[in-house]
Amino acid sequence: MDSFDYVIVGAGTAGSVVANRLSADGKSTVLVLEAGGSDRTVWIQLPIGYGRTFFDRSINWMYDTEAEPNLGGRISYWPRGKVIGGSGSINAMVYVRGQPHDFDQWQAMGNPGWGWDEVLPFFRKSEDHDHGASPYHGAGGPIHVTDITRRAHPLCQDFIKTGEALGFAHTDDFNGPSPEGVGIYQINTDKGLRASSANAFLRPALKRSNVALRTKAQVTRILFEGQQATGVEYRRGGQTVQVKARREVILCGGAINSPQLLQLSGIGEAAHLASLGISPVLNAPAVGRNMQDHLAVSYFYRSRRPTLNDELGPLLGKVKAGIHYLWNRGGPLSMSVNQGGGFVRSDPDQPFPNLQLYFSPVSYTKTPLSERKLMNPDPFSAFLLSFNACKPTSRGSLKIVSADPLAYPSIQPNYLSTDKDIQEAMVGNRLLRTVASTKPLADIITEELVPGAHLQTDEELLEDFRQRADTVYHPVGTCMMGADPTLSVVDARLRVHGIKGLRVIDASIFPTVTSGNTNAPTVMVAEKGAAMVLEDRVQ
Ligand SMILES: Cc1cc2nc3c(=O)[nH]c(=O)nc-3n(C[C@H](O)[C@H](O)[C@H](O)COP(=O)(O)OP(=O)(O)OC[C@H]3O[C@@H](n4cnc5c(N)ncnc54)[C@H](O)[C@@H]3O)c2cc1C
Repeated sequence: MDSFDYVIVGAGTAGSVVANRLSADGKSTVLVLEAGGSDRTVWIQLPIGYGRTFFDRSINWMYDTEAEPNLGGRISYWPRGKVIGGSGSINAMVYVRGQPHDFDQWQAMGNPGWGWDEVLPFFRKSEDHDHGASPYHGAGGPIHVTDITRRAHPLCQDFIKTGEALGFAHTDDFNGPSPEGVGIYQINTDKGLRASSANAFLRPALKRSNVALRTKAQVTRILFEGQQATGVEYRRGGQTVQVKARREVILCGGAINSPQLLQLSGIGEAAHLASLGISPVLNAPAVGRNMQDHLAVSYFYRSRRPTLNDELGPLLGKVKAGIHYLWNRGGPLSMSVNQGGGFVRSDPDQPFPNLQLYFSPVSYTKTPLSERKLMNPDPFSAFLLSFNACKPTSRGSLKIVSADPLAYPSIQPNYLSTDKDIQEAMVGNRLLRTVASTKPLADIITEELVPGAHLQTDEELLEDFRQRADTVYHPVGTCMMGADPTLSVVDARLRVHGIKGLRVIDASIFPTVTSGNTNAPTVMVAEKGAAMVLEDRVQ
């Protein structure tokens, strides 16, 4: 049997970081097993290309949730990257760390070392920020962070002025000393190309002789001797192969696949596993529970002023955008469509910003936003505003439904299942209406296209939210970090409770979802997790 010091499952956002850091000193051998294949396609590397990868089964797991009772029985479509770089190869690249209190909350939940002051150095370590080093930002790290303020669509400034008119602060850095307020999102791009973890961390690591990557290799089972993980079994090209991990098996499969693999391997609720014919290795009922996600809704507005629709819609506009990109890797193709936004308090009594806003100078009312025809927006000038609660309190779960490792698990997000989440949906709806009716945006808007002025009461808008709100693709928490093995899956050093030689290092360990997009905090988790693996390494 092949053997390596560390076997990493998944070459996504976190796995790429871990592979790099564990191999850097040349003292350990590292194998990365990735179920998907190459990320060398234009639609992954070109920033705007994420519209095209959204439904591409060749690089995307394409999960569906169960019917959601509080969203009118709708099924939510959950794209997840099945490719080198994982979801970080198909995401919208927005770089947001979250609010400092998110991490102080992690620490207060029984996770020493995860408070804001302790995690900030790991955010900085990974970073190569456009504006260089500062107490808040890193320079010279692997992953580039681009400030698009000067390149964002001019209407973003009208959104910011509107926010200021409503009393919100204007922040020039959501990841700096004043993360609250309205402003322009930073993004993970580098010289006009996607700066995924794969590009930033994995590719350089693969130049080292002590790192191996096997693609199209889907791990189906963790191998154990008693309560010690000793390796994994994977399928590749019709073959079933076993590989030994001399030191540790590290799961970086993400918030769906890491808990799925634990359950398939006998770590989960013992009765459930036994009912599927899986011999339990450890009764761990928390595996797959504590699922959290951001749920957003968009309001669409017809605009008197040109928007990205006018640049990206017409054939001539597409050609111009293409030439602009080829000329200096600039223009709309080099960016996300999520350009303006904010972290605001719906009322001054909120202890922290409780709503995240998006202002995207583009609209898709003719094709559902969920189809992500980013290069085919509406044939008229329009834009969208959207919001999601920063810290939803609804909790979902994930369960395997078969012992077949290739069968998809059952995903039940349980959106909008608490009063707090329902209340925040209502205040968020109202806030979008208030933003749209405040100058200067009010003077630019000619009509609310969706949901439309015929809906006025809170109840009508809540019903609209139930009919249209959808995931922002931020599932986390399904292998929760915590001290109590009955409620959590890994300890504060990311070791699976009760099992030796097995860690989970990815977005599934978040105890609570951060107040923003989840890629940057996943990179931080991977940086800190890798540092702990190295500290614990037996020489
Ligand atoms: C469409 C979309 C848009 C998003 N936009 C943003 C954004 O703008 N900003 C932001 O911050 N976040 C965004 N996110 C979320 C962010 O990308 C994720 O939170 C982050 O990538 C999670 O990283 P991860 O390492 O936990 O999982 P992933 O990056 O998903 O990596 C998991 C990897 O493991 C592999 N794998 C899984 N199971 C196995 C197995 N059994 N064997 C072998 N390999 C396996 C997968 O194929 C995948 O490559 C978005 C996500 C999506 C899908």
